[in-house]
Amino acid sequence: MYIIKVLIEHPVHSLDTTFDYLYHEALQVGIRVMIPFGYQKIIGYVEAIEETNLTPEQLEKEAGFHYQYIQAVIDEEPLLNQELRELALKLAKMTMSPRIACLQAMLPTQLKPSTNHSVGIKMKTVIHVLNDGVPQTKKQQECLQYLKEHPLSQIKDIPYTKGVVDRLLEQGFVEYQKIEQYRQPHFMNNHQQKTITLTIDQQKVVDGILSKKERVSLIHGVTGSGKTEVYLALASVILKEGRTVMMLVPEISLTPMMVEVFKQRFHDQVAILHSRLSQGEKYDEYRRIKRQEVKIVVGARSAIFAPLENIGLIILDEEHDASYKQDSKPRYLTSQIARMRAKTHHARVVLGSATPSLESYSRAQKGIYDLYVLDKRINQKPLPHVQIIDMVNEMKNHNYSLFSYEMKKRIQETIDRGEQVLLLLNKRGYATYVRCQDCGEVIKCPHCDVTLTYHKDENMLKCHYCEHQIPLMKQCPHCGGKHLKTVGMGTQKVEEDIQRMFHHASVIRYDVDTTKNKDGHMKLLEKFRKKEANILLGTQMIAKGLDFEDVTFVGVLNADMSLNVPDFRASERTFQLLCQVSGRSGRGKKQGTVIIQTYNPDHYAIESAAKHDYQSFYQQEMIYRQKAQYPPYCHMVSIIVQSKEELLVHQSALDIKKYLVSHIHQGAVLGPAKSVIYKMQDIYRERILIKFINSQEIYQVLEVVNDYYNKKQKGKVTVVCDFNPYSQI
Ligand code: ADP
Ligand code: ZN
Repeated sequence: MYIIKVLIEHPVHSLDTTFDYLYHEALQVGIRVMIPFGYQKIIGYVEAIEETNLTPEQLEKEAGFHYQYIQAVIDEEPLLNQELRELALKLAKMTMSPRIACLQAMLPTQLKPSTNHSVGIKMKTVIHVLNDGVPQTKKQQECLQYLKEHPLSQIKDIPYTKGVVDRLLEQGFVEYQKIEQYRQPHFMNNHQQKTITLTIDQQKVVDGILSKKERVSLIHGVTGSGKTEVYLALASVILKEGRTVMMLVPEISLTPMMVEVFKQRFHDQVAILHSRLSQGEKYDEYRRIKRQEVKIVVGARSAIFAPLENIGLIILDEEHDASYKQDSKPRYLTSQIARMRAKTHHARVVLGSATPSLESYSRAQKGIYDLYVLDKRINQKPLPHVQIIDMVNEMKNHNYSLFSYEMKKRIQETIDRGEQVLLLLNKRGYATYVRCQDCGEVIKCPHCDVTLTYHKDENMLKCHYCEHQIPLMKQCPHCGGKHLKTVGMGTQKVEEDIQRMFHHASVIRYDVDTTKNKDGHMKLLEKFRKKEANILLGTQMIAKGLDFEDVTFVGVLNADMSLNVPDFRASERTFQLLCQVSGRSGRGKKQGTVIIQTYNPDHYAIESAAKHDYQSFYQQEMIYRQKAQYPPYCHMVSIIVQSKEELLVHQSALDIKKYLVSHIHQGAVLGPAKSVIYKMQDIYRERILIKFINSQEIYQVLEVVNDYYNKKQKGKVTVVCDFNPYSQI
């Protein structure tokens, strides 16, 4: 008899512990099983097994409870190999999250330990050639020859009728075979194949990186300097060595273009993993990887857990991007996982960015990473000229519009020349909300501490933090007044304005709303590439990776929005965003220009971005970080205390703070303070922030807090420890 220790995901029993079941055979660690749990049947994940000589009766006597049996075994082989199982355990420790949550994060939905539904496997019928020999007719002979040259073809794909194949079948030359058919994710394919020879600068980077083993390299390359070609060149060398490659990109806009480039270069050897694939596609891509049928995985954050073996290279493009930090359980940083996997595989890690994070750049300065610089665009193309427009001046000149005079002029000129425009509306705080003109009340979400956003096309008010939505009311819920007014300027509103303001303008709006459908991104971008529109208006999503030859003007409507947020990375984010979006201009043969509208024209983040001057930004920002003691001068962990009961949150936060202060002997313990959005989905949240140098002590102390609130006390207050926090929400 075997005792099987099973991990489960269960909302009430979300303890980080296993439950014991009996089974008559030894099972493999890492497979899923069906188990009775209370009155339910649920799926669990086998974490360990123990053989026993005792009978079930003896076992029960010893344990003092009634053992139940495993009801069914789901997987034939473990979902994760040993490397990834060990990684899951480390991840649980590092992020202080339950083991089951880590396993869930590592697997595609269809294979998650808690999943009980299947997308099915698509089968197709192909023709398999059995024998050589001479069939009866000429036609049949030709057909057999064709089938030998095109093994495993489907009837529909061959230039012969089913009748001919059936005759071959009768004579025993061929048979029909059912084999699995993978769903093929759609990808863009509009570029002509270019044959590219690396420039001397690019080749130097490639050679440098290949000359050292097991290192982390940072490529600091301005926008358009050809980093992607460097990645491709590195990847082919690694493939020739018989090893595999992981190519990670930020979730949102980069994926279709990056996928296209990799697919064109490496064809079937590439698998894609990102959140916009259908469940079926994801499942198939995952199985192709697991079966070692591909050599390269291109994907977003969670692709770092792809079951590739023999990894030789892990690349993180746009390494500074905030989407590399997962901000739900387990709250991991992708670059950290990349380094861990690289260590196991003796692989290289390459981080690339035009605007490296201060953490990475300072590591490169210290020699912990190797630094490579590409400071020129391909073909010596100049970086675009950037002009800063002070919006205070515009107001002085009685222009209260969102567009400065200069911006209007440039947009019209660009359209008139038959070229294309990219407009960035940095959305934070710019969404449209509703205010009562009588009492001044702003309509808020009843469950979250945020205003509801007005969506004109549906005439609905929606919360962007929970599912809450209601039709726009006629009367103020507060005073009954009838004068409700929409305030602010969302992308939708700006889109309408633009159509009105410019001659021959056709706008594509590119934001979360217009791209939420499957392949939505791709369709809009393809349309823009085909020049079916001359203005692409979007949020941060348009800043990354887009490479359109005819975009010669980029306008930033409101550069300040990301500066005015309570986050120590606000300047860094603003600088990065402005550099990235400017970099979209003038990538083709024609010279590009950029206009940045701001109320803070003297801010160093804006000034250095306008000059494409990373060094100057880095120097000034490092001074600020040192003075205020922020990363990279220390580490941070944010402890989020949450509960549905407001009083309890505050009292517990004070208790925790007291405990931390008396047990931590370094850095600083700050707070508690209310979260930026204090109430979210009816849960109140306060935060304590610890700045520290030595993580060992911090882990020891926080484990006590974590155990007490999340395991022992199991009560109305829970805590979340967020190491390297990126989000202040
Ligand atoms: P980055 O990722 O650094 O912004 P890209 O890799 O997108 O830059 O390269 C910018 C453009 O230059 C692309 O259109 C790319 O095809 C082209 N390019 C890159 N390397 C070369 C090269 N060696 N020769 C010719 N064109 C190149
Ligand atoms: Zn809400």
